[in-house]
Amino acid sequence: MTDDVESCRGQRMGAFGDRTFVPPETSEQWARERTFALQHLRLDLVVDDEAKKVSGTATHRLAPINDGLKEIVLDLDNLRIRGVKDEAGKALEFETHGEELTIRLPRARKAGEAFELRVRYEATPTKGLFFVAPDKAYPKKPRIVWTQGEEMDNRSWFPSYDYPNQKFTTEVVVTVKEAYRAVSNGRLVSEKHDPKKGTRTFHWIQDKPHPNYLIALVVGEWDTKEWDADGIPVQAYVPKGYGKYIDLCFSRVPAMVKFFGRVTGLRYPWGKYAQACVPDFTFGGMENTSITILHEYCLTDEHAYPDYSSDSLLSHELAHQWFGDWLTCKSWGHLWLNESFADYFECLWWEDHFGKDEFIVHLEEVREGYYEEAEKKYKRPIVTHKFVDAEDMLDNHTYNKGCGVLHMLRTVLGDDLWWKGIRHYVKKVGLQNVETTDFRVALEEATGKSLAWFFDEWLYHAGHPEFEVSWSWDDRAKQVEVKVKQTHEVKDAVPLFRMPVELEFATDDRVWRETVQVDRAEHTFRIASRERPRTVLFDPDGNLIKKLTFKKEKEELLWQLAHANGVWARMEAAAGLGRFVGDAAAAQALGKALSKDPFWGVRRATAAGLGEVGTTAARDVLLASLKGQDSRVRRGIYAALGKFRKDDEAFKALSKAYLEDGTYAPMAQAAQALAETRHPGAFDAIA
Ligand SMILES: [Zn+2]
Repeated sequence: MTDDVESCRGQRMGAFGDRTFVPPETSEQWARERTFALQHLRLDLVVDDEAKKVSGTATHRLAPINDGLKEIVLDLDNLRIRGVKDEAGKALEFETHGEELTIRLPRARKAGEAFELRVRYEATPTKGLFFVAPDKAYPKKPRIVWTQGEEMDNRSWFPSYDYPNQKFTTEVVVTVKEAYRAVSNGRLVSEKHDPKKGTRTFHWIQDKPHPNYLIALVVGEWDTKEWDADGIPVQAYVPKGYGKYIDLCFSRVPAMVKFFGRVTGLRYPWGKYAQACVPDFTFGGMENTSITILHEYCLTDEHAYPDYSSDSLLSHELAHQWFGDWLTCKSWGHLWLNESFADYFECLWWEDHFGKDEFIVHLEEVREGYYEEAEKKYKRPIVTHKFVDAEDMLDNHTYNKGCGVLHMLRTVLGDDLWWKGIRHYVKKVGLQNVETTDFRVALEEATGKSLAWFFDEWLYHAGHPEFEVSWSWDDRAKQVEVKVKQTHEVKDAVPLFRMPVELEFATDDRVWRETVQVDRAEHTFRIASRERPRTVLFDPDGNLIKKLTFKKEKEELLWQLAHANGVWARMEAAAGLGRFVGDAAAAQALGKALSKDPFWGVRRATAAGLGEVGTTAARDVLLASLKGQDSRVRRGIYAALGKFRKDDEAFKALSKAYLEDGTYAPMAQAAQALAETRHPGAFDAIA
């Protein structure tokens, strides 16, 4: 699931504003105990969108886990239960209390003795299933019904076992108005038209087991398109009239389906992949098995597209079809096994499709969501059973930090072993519920590595290392001396970190790397070199979750910006040069890189640096560099121009950009920057 339509990087509200994740007295929430194995659930429903009502029968086929089962407890929320019968049609005693439906069995059942329960009910749901309809404010809004089960809201439209730690096959037989098309999990086995009643009945079967929260339904009038991804039908459903936006949004999904199948070793495992865009969706997207539901805001036009790619959202939700749906966290404390994987596989799609440099920028943007939460709110272990509400686990630790942790795991293992481990994990635990230990054990089985140390510090402990690094040259010994300190406070769940770290050294004619093991508060590493390096880089590709203070001389940064091979190093140099406020050489070097560097991410970083340097020359370079720039760089330039307080030239350029840039996000950035100039004309320019 994602809660931000722009990407997985939503700034989620934490549970508490007091910089702690949970109050200390919070008790732990372990996976729920089960008394029966649910084998199959069939819903026979009528959905009346005008009355905003759902009615029908939920038929559960289940078997006790132990001998002597006398009652069954199902989850429900505000359902009106009309009766419960067994498979012979005999009425059974039941009672509802809070969110529990307790059904008494006429006789105790033995372990494994399967039987059916038919629960007839009605609902007017206010959660779980939503009715969108036109209103006075939005008279053109389409009539659409959509559901959102995660974490435990599906109990608001049907009674069931509503916790992720068991999986079962499902069937949804739904009757709707004849103009509508209803889409649910799995494959469509029949569609029946009843002209007398003016209704249509759709019968969907999900024949591989999945958990309750992934059961989904959308009903409405749609524009649709279907693609073929090596035999897998990939489908888009958008509200009728929105069909012209389908291609820009969805056309790369078939390639994503093939990519994830190839790298995980598991071809897309469900019969179809439908994606439905709906109005007023409460999240960015939700990865229901074989039917992802998306907020309609992911449909954009060409003026938004250069700055917003639906690839983030769509690849995230698609990755869940493997990580979340094919294998599912056993309890909410292990939710990272769903969400961090979806975030990281989104980054991996980025790497495969757009290249390594784009991947580096995308990954860092994801990690920034974690840094912000860690700084402003709290640091917690990614795996924890101490939470108040399952929804509280949907934070930037579960998504963003876990994504960064998976990338470090890949870095520690190397690409070959990482993929070997992932393929073994996907194969071994398919269709099952998983805990964090299952993932570690699968990786260890596949690779022979011992990874308990890594899981212990990154999943069961909190925080991240804050490094202070410096280097010097010992000409007599012909050695580079690199000092590394871990300066963060080691307390509570935040440990001193143990990690292998790459160092990169560059002279005029040679670049080489050394890997050092950091595990203490302070290290001095001595590296042999024939001559004094021009630059020394710590974690040169930005693989680690960390904060780094690495003070460098201006000369080194100038060389690094102009000559470093990696985009991470050049972006670091641009940021470093920005600290030389008023410096002519810094402005000149940044200006040169702004026009010449081949990667837009570096050019954007140089624009930010020029904004910090703040000289007239820096401003003029920014103004002169606007033409022909990628819109993401233009945004960076506009933001930088906003730093020039009450400056007439910056004001003029931003006023023009606000009206004439032509692309939405840069225009919005120009408006914001205009305000930041505090120029006397800014208000009128925006108003
Ligand atoms: Zn997700």
